[in-house]
Amino acid sequence: MRAIVVGTGAGGATAARELQSNGFKVLILESGAPFKPFTRNLSWSEPLRRLGLLGGEKNFRHLFPAMDMQRSSADLLLVRGLTTGGSTVLSCGNLVRTDNGFKEIGLDLTPEFQELEAELHPEPIPKQMWRPLTRKMFQSAQDMGFDPKPTPKVVDPQRCTGCGLCELGCRVGARWDSRRFLQEAVNRGAVLHTNTSVEKIIVADNLVKGVLTRCKGKNIIIKGDVVVLAAGGIGTAQILKNSGLAVKDNLWADIVLTLGGVSQGAHQLEEPPMVWYTEHEHFILSPYLDILSHFFHKPWRNVSIDDRVGLMIKLADVEEGTVYANGKVEKSLTSVDQIRLEEAIEYASRIMEGAGVSRPFIRGMYNGGHLGGTVPLKKEYVKDMKPSWLPEGLWVADLSLARRSQGMPTILLTAALALRVARMIIEEYENG
Ligand SMILES: Cc1cc2nc3c(=O)[nH]c(=O)nc-3n(C[C@H](O)[C@H](O)[C@H](O)COP(=O)(O)OP(=O)(O)OC[C@H]3O[C@@H](n4cnc5c(N)ncnc54)[C@H](O)[C@@H]3O)c2cc1C
Repeated sequence: MRAIVVGTGAGGATAARELQSNGFKVLILESGAPFKPFTRNLSWSEPLRRLGLLGGEKNFRHLFPAMDMQRSSADLLLVRGLTTGGSTVLSCGNLVRTDNGFKEIGLDLTPEFQELEAELHPEPIPKQMWRPLTRKMFQSAQDMGFDPKPTPKVVDPQRCTGCGLCELGCRVGARWDSRRFLQEAVNRGAVLHTNTSVEKIIVADNLVKGVLTRCKGKNIIIKGDVVVLAAGGIGTAQILKNSGLAVKDNLWADIVLTLGGVSQGAHQLEEPPMVWYTEHEHFILSPYLDILSHFFHKPWRNVSIDDRVGLMIKLADVEEGTVYANGKVEKSLTSVDQIRLEEAIEYASRIMEGAGVSRPFIRGMYNGGHLGGTVPLKKEYVKDMKPSWLPEGLWVADLSLARRSQGMPTILLTAALALRVARMIIEEYENG
């Protein structure tokens, strides 16, 4: 049985490993190139940044092509990894359970969460690696009754150098990313083609026959018995739309806004990002120096990286956004998002003030990198782990399946969904 897995992020790598380990011949198609972390020293850019000569965030793409950024509206930037490992190579290594919207439809992912946690051993970063101001903000959040918790991470503290730049790829390999699952799949016989973009699904009589790919400027058809789409919330929707299949205009992104304050010599970048978090109804708060805002956001320009202090708001946004067949996305902040963000900004300001961080507190760039919701699971689909409108042999195994935004890290959720889907595929084909 030949399975084509599209994408190598949290969903694709997990599904590919599971299928290859269970008798499928797996071909993995990845649109991006093999991942390389960003290794340039950032200090060269500081004078240019101060003068506003770095331009917009688009310029960063030339230096670091693995990070894909597009504006889905004037005020929102969407970020994803287009490379081996998908968005996991840009992650902060946070690994927590979240399942907003699944209990209601009767899907309990606890067994998969337990299994993946037992394999990956998420642990908090030891407090001696936290910067003094981060400890003060933790205390301040505690004093306010917000119950901050150290963040479980798949980061090896022995190898982590505390460079603070996880989102640019881990230079020392201290942080887990889905390339480890991908490598295991390949070691077990799966074949990986990079720089190969899947354009369309080939379907005849409601049965999947393969995919149309684009590689080195050529269109190539690849045949397969099963196709597993794990190209992420944008990529999967794009491929489905191109194939004439309907997707929902339900894109969510877990919108991130970092509130920036000032503290002389805080050196917040000299620790892993997001070492603790507080959980609220619609958002989490976590210490984080947002480098995109530092480099490209004019209102943040006059403070040096050593003195900048950030507290991130990660909001479970309203599930409203459209992906088009050309990959462009339309999504903006809704009035409900704005109201919830105001509450979060108020909390974040109080935590920073309580820790002695100086005003002005300035908003960074609104961005989102947890992209899901475009192929949402409903109650009636849970039994088969696939929407009934997908042709036979076509499956989705990524965050697109999550109908609700999470406002929480989403790698564990995505991997758990992919594991459940892969096992459903195995069961279906074992039973003929
Ligand atoms: C900067 C950043 C930091 C993050 N930090 C964390 C964190 O610390 N913890 C956490 O839990 N979550 C984090 N996330 C979110 C998490 O990484 C994603 O939610 C998760 O990786 C989603 O998995 P996925 O498989 O749905 O998509 P992705 O991991 O994005 O994988 C999609 C894959 O499909 C490929 N692809 C796309 N289109 C095509 C095509 N047409 N043909 C072939 N291949 C294609 C892509 O190149 C990619 O490999 C972060 C995200 C970002 C952007």
